[in-house]
Amino acid sequence: MPPSKNQTPPPPDQRSRVEQLEQEVARLKAERDRTRKELEEQSALTDASFEAIGFFDSRDLHCVACNNTALKIYGYTREEFLGKHVLDLVAPDSRELVSQKIENNVQTAYELTAIRKDGATFPAEVHGKKIIYQGVPVRVSALRDITRRKNIELELQHALNEQEVIFANTKVGLMLLRGGRVVAKVNQALADLFGYDTPEEMIGLDVRDLHLDEARYHTFGKEFYGALEDAAQLHIEYQLRRKDGSPVWCRLSGQAVDLNAPADLKKGVLWVIDDISRIKDEEQRLRALACTDHLTGVHNRRYFLELAEREMRRRRRHGGQCALLLIDMDRFKDVNDRLGHPAGDAVLKTFARRCCGTLREVDIFGRLGGEEFAVFLPGTDLEGGRVAAERIRHRVSSLDTRTPEGNICATVSIGVASTDHPTAGVEDLISRADKALYRAKALGRDRVETE
Ligand code: GH3
Ligand code: MG
Ligand code: MG
Repeated sequence: MPPSKNQTPPPPDQRSRVEQLEQEVARLKAERDRTRKELEEQSALTDASFEAIGFFDSRDLHCVACNNTALKIYGYTREEFLGKHVLDLVAPDSRELVSQKIENNVQTAYELTAIRKDGATFPAEVHGKKIIYQGVPVRVSALRDITRRKNIELELQHALNEQEVIFANTKVGLMLLRGGRVVAKVNQALADLFGYDTPEEMIGLDVRDLHLDEARYHTFGKEFYGALEDAAQLHIEYQLRRKDGSPVWCRLSGQAVDLNAPADLKKGVLWVIDDISRIKDEEQRLRALACTDHLTGVHNRRYFLELAEREMRRRRRHGGQCALLLIDMDRFKDVNDRLGHPAGDAVLKTFARRCCGTLREVDIFGRLGGEEFAVFLPGTDLEGGRVAAERIRHRVSSLDTRTPEGNICATVSIGVASTDHPTAGVEDLISRADKALYRAKALGRDRVETE
């Protein structure tokens, strides 16, 4: 304290003692302020922590210090918290675990169930360390409430389980490819589709094992993987390969898991795959039906014309002759009238079969309607057409057709036309052959006439 003005100043030796004391007081004040500041900083640091921090005397594991977060998390006042045994802060089912960790001085983080003052428990993550605090060995424990993380984990697990149930029970085949083209996950429906016993049997397969051959595998990649990278959802019909090597028609819908564009296909591609063999068979059957004459089984008029036109176009591009035979049963009305329509049908069927027997693979044969048939002969001139027609006529007239009503000897008349430069269409060739046919009829039937 400075001397007051009206006081007598102390003698010199006392004055220096007072100054010394004043300096000492100032130094202690400064030290006190610094310590207070340090303490404030320290407690601000620990209290700002999301973790509850407690110091437990290593000898009896009772709490000697804690931060405010610990009080907030546990619901105790500081007076209540200090002196608590470490195991009082842990739910009964975790006490054994915690005792062991402390005993073994484990310093890595582990999970436990903590218990609040009100008895409510919560999942927590804790890590501890032995230190010397104010000359005493203590265990410092930092504990974090992980309820939120656990809830998220649970929700995630729930969502994954849900996904698993959907994946396993979907009746359509599902296949997840990862890291390019490796089978990472499939469901039972997909294993069934490809003839594998279990989904596990397919895990790790290279997707090329599901293709009929190397060429088709490459074609598939070239045609469709670009679109997958563009994040498009693909719908494809493609023939794939079962485990036993047999082909299976599939409808595939593909989608990259990575939704960025371009998508990183290595992250995964999900394929939804359906067996459409039955639909394809039915399509094939219907297509065949639409092209086939129901009585004789040969091409019908529409399909005969389509195939012959196609062949004509090819000839136009590459050159070469072709001939057409127009065949008509002789006096067929009489056959029906004498022996009945079913007998007439039998004659038509037998004729078609025998006629096919005289033709080459490249020849096109069809029933144009009624008892009229036609043959298109690629690479054949008029004389070649005539020879082929004679072969047919002879084959038909030399063999009877057996029916329940008796044996029938049928004959045919045939008109032949040909073209070196097929500029006109098949219909033109037919009408020219028809003129020759008319002549064959007029000249007595059972004969071949050329244009
Ligand atoms: P032509 O020698 O002049 O050709 O005499 P045609 O009796 O064969 O000629 P026409 O055209 O007068 O008669 C053709 C007959 O063919 C009429 C019809 O009863 C018969 N016909 C046509 N389609 C069928 C069929 O699908 N089944 C049967 N059984 N007969 C048919
Ligand atoms: Mg006729
Ligand atoms: Mg006839």
